[in-house]
Amino acid sequence: MSKIHYKYPLARPYIDNADKKAVLRVLESGYLSGGSKYLEFEKKMANYLGVKYACSVSSGTAGLHLAVKALEIGRGDEVITTPFSFVASSNCLLYERAKPVFVDIEDVTYNINPQKIEAAIGKKTKAILPVHIFGQSCEMDKIVQIAKKYGLHIIEDACESLGSKYMGKKTGTFGEIGVFAFYPNKQMTTGEGGMIATNSKTIYEICSSLRNQGRSINDQWLRHERLGYNYRMNEMSAALGISQLKKLDWMIKKRQQIVAWYNSELADTEGIIVPKIGSFRTHTWFLYVIRLTKTLRNDIIRNLAKAGIASKNYMPTIHLQPFMRKLFGYRVGDFPISEMVASQSLALPFYIQMNKSDVKKICNEIKKIV
Ligand SMILES: *Cc1c(COP(=O)(O)O)cnc(C)c1O
Repeated sequence: MSKIHYKYPLARPYIDNADKKAVLRVLESGYLSGGSKYLEFEKKMANYLGVKYACSVSSGTAGLHLAVKALEIGRGDEVITTPFSFVASSNCLLYERAKPVFVDIEDVTYNINPQKIEAAIGKKTKAILPVHIFGQSCEMDKIVQIAKKYGLHIIEDACESLGSKYMGKKTGTFGEIGVFAFYPNKQMTTGEGGMIATNSKTIYEICSSLRNQGRSINDQWLRHERLGYNYRMNEMSAALGISQLKKLDWMIKKRQQIVAWYNSELADTEGIIVPKIGSFRTHTWFLYVIRLTKTLRNDIIRNLAKAGIASKNYMPTIHLQPFMRKLFGYRVGDFPISEMVASQSLALPFYIQMNKSDVKKICNEIKKIV
């Protein structure tokens, strides 16, 4: 993460003594990879999510890549997704020479607009890849309905939305595959790590094989059935994951409390739009992101930095990243809602060690400028 040392960084993992002990026990056991912890973590995560299978991997990006491989999406195929996301949700398609077809977002939840999906479906469309941005669910009932109508796969990028629900059901469990990530800024961490959730035994077995060099899943020594990768999760990460999962619901409640503090400080401030939650949803808050006019945003970033407070424009749209422009010729104006939100959004420090007076202090610095 950022090299500049802020008194209030954007994010910070929460690691307690139980976490440290769990990792230490693995180190002392000598089984640092391929032991029993990753299997235990998978079982517990499947249980938490309410799916039949979970396959641990070395990162969320690795998980997304394997999801694309498992559904045999490749050269010439198109996948409908959102331009307002972290690049990994499109990169996983490019790894397999599939084409991301972007559909603009709606301006309340910043998620893909289901009303605009059908117009983007063509002969080559194979799947929809919705991203539950910042921790709140897309309108999954509508997306599932469209996918059924056109016979499309669904891969959910739930890397920012662990634990959040839509109509009572957890994100990452609506499609054939849901992918989670455990980078240190997520709702829970394993250092680096990810998890693929599915109800399909076949998908679970293919992903398990692919993350382990394509080895046959009944573990016949060095029998490689397909071209695979080393995307395995190590045992220290898995042990940390098991320990973190125990307190996940508590950590999520803490996040929700901090959001409530921020909102009460900023909701009535002119020029600031605080985040809103769409209907039928619970939100688990990967980040706390407000919106401002562009000129105001730059002033605020500068002044917060002077006060030791990190903040960041979260995030530039994918289609305007230099390599995406070069590949597909995208231009400013192609996805206006995403571009507008991207030009206005600002992530503020957000981690569960913050208390009410920290939030107040940060908000006061913002109000000085607004
Ligand atoms: C964090 C994240 C990922 C995966 O990140 P990794 O660093 O590879 O674990 C993928 N998509 C989104 C939207 C994310 O926020």
